[in-house]
Amino acid sequence: MGYFIESLAQIIGREPKRPANDEISIKVQEIHKYKKANKITLVKLEAERKANRARGEASRWLKRRWAVLISVNLLFVVSYYFDIQLLEGALTASRFVGFHMADLNSSLQVMLAFKHIVLNLMIGTVTVFILWLLLGGRTFCSWVCPYHLLSEWAEKLHLWLVAKKIIKGYTFHRGVRTFFYLVFAALTFITGYTIFEAISPTGILSRALIYGAGVALLWVLFLLLFEIFISRRAWCRYVCPIGMTYGFVGSMSPLRVVYKPELCFFGGDCRTVCLVPHVLDSTIMGRARDEIVPIGADCTRCGMCVDICPASALKFEIKGIGKAFDEPEEKNTARPE
Ligand code: SF4
Ligand code: SF4
Repeated sequence: MGYFIESLAQIIGREPKRPANDEISIKVQEIHKYKKANKITLVKLEAERKANRARGEASRWLKRRWAVLISVNLLFVVSYYFDIQLLEGALTASRFVGFHMADLNSSLQVMLAFKHIVLNLMIGTVTVFILWLLLGGRTFCSWVCPYHLLSEWAEKLHLWLVAKKIIKGYTFHRGVRTFFYLVFAALTFITGYTIFEAISPTGILSRALIYGAGVALLWVLFLLLFEIFISRRAWCRYVCPIGMTYGFVGSMSPLRVVYKPELCFFGGDCRTVCLVPHVLDSTIMGRARDEIVPIGADCTRCGMCVDICPASALKFEIKGIGKAFDEPEEKNTARPE
């Protein structure tokens, strides 16, 4: 299955599969064989992890991302309070220096509710579609969505509680997100109301920040408590249709993360930090098929895997413009001569 189709299948819930031997390129088979035979893993990996932390690279993208996320959301607040008309509205529908912007998922919901194409929404929808197509689709999640930030903090607490064996984390089949997607679409179509908008923590938080807190924040609190005590990142992983919509957009995006097995130590650090670890299946020893593997469209381009990888085996790339791995290499000698 090609990367594109596989990526779409994973968005709707398909689990990644180990490739058959004849699907793996000869060069990558050699790399895997060499690394297995030479046991190039733990000692070197630990040294690189330490060096990575010392260089401050383990949180480079995280700091940038949080700065952007907080700035975008503050811009709404500042524009509203000082009436400077820079960024008006909220995340679901806004105007940026006069340009209409409409969140893709909200537009879909409105059109389903009205049962026809709402022309007034089209300009804003197309603008936002092009924007996120260029920027990576689910980039919206990790670089803009206010719930993502709270959920990241809740996740830290969840992982700490699990590590201390105070709670046990539960996972569910990712296909339930597709089920919820269809349920929300069907309910909207049948009732004529954009039901998801009422319970979307993205919209609730965005409006609360701008216009003030409301009782709907209790729902957001419930979601966060569920993620802390029951299931890690449950809303984004198993429910939110916004993430799914932007995932489809991201499948066509030139901005992506790519993986190079030649540099990898197979320590799996990337998968432990990732919101959507299924997209990093190729980083498991024996799973990569090519020397450079594009990471699937469900990836939020958060950069956590890029930050944490001690071997620089994951990088951002703009397809057709910049090669991700063309800088001098460097610290990882874990490859066949
Ligand atoms: S999946 Fe939904 S709630 Fe989660 S970060 Fe994306 S838009 Fe926000
Ligand atoms: S693959 Fe990397 S960049 Fe993409 S969501 Fe996972 S950690 Fe973030």
